[in-house]
Amino acid sequence: MTSPPLAPRAVLWDLDGTLYHQKPLRRRMLLELALSPLREGFGARRTLRRLKLFRHVREELRELGQPTESLDRLQYSRPAERLGDDAAALEATVLDWMHRRPLRFLAPCRRAGLIEVLEELDGAGLKLGVFSDYPAPEKLAALGLSSSFSLTLCATDAEVNAFKPHPAGFLRACEIWGLQPAEVLYVGDRDEVDGEGARAAGMPVRIVGAGADDLEGVRDAAFGRA
Ligand SMILES: [Mg+2]
Repeated sequence: MTSPPLAPRAVLWDLDGTLYHQKPLRRRMLLELALSPLREGFGARRTLRRLKLFRHVREELRELGQPTESLDRLQYSRPAERLGDDAAALEATVLDWMHRRPLRFLAPCRRAGLIEVLEELDGAGLKLGVFSDYPAPEKLAALGLSSSFSLTLCATDAEVNAFKPHPAGFLRACEIWGLQPAEVLYVGDRDEVDGEGARAAGMPVRIVGAGADDLEGVRDAAFGRA
């Protein structure tokens, strides 16, 4: 006979596509990119090439697991090498287009009802954290969620250095909180990275889509009702 699951004592959240909806943000950023040739001339095509390959390489790097080399460096050096480009210049493009520029469009994309659910979970004594493949603090500030989480981890942090679905980041969060993986509910939007990683770490997981009531399922799971 298997023992009943432990009631969650913490909820660890993915960021992109989970705390906010990515489709409206992508549409807004595509418009920005489409308008950029008017402002940036020939640089716009290079920007597109860099962003496209960066995204592609990031997915490839998931297969490396937890390498000895720094993923924070590899994510820029590998696409730069393939393009015959400068890694620092490629990094600057990525930081500009994938981190800085989207910030001002984030707030309206925040998942409806999120703040209320986070407050409810916090009020019930559950610890709350974020584990993302991308750095979280600036996005959380833009979403008005800076004070909602006691822990933020990124896959490229030196203490993790593994993209999902490797379990390293999930387990690091448990270690920081001093909790068993079975006591930490993970919430994400991609089963092949969030679901697989959480299961590899031994955590219960809830995958959310674009549905307005998807947070209901998270609330139920966090309170041990599902
Ligand atoms: Mg996501």
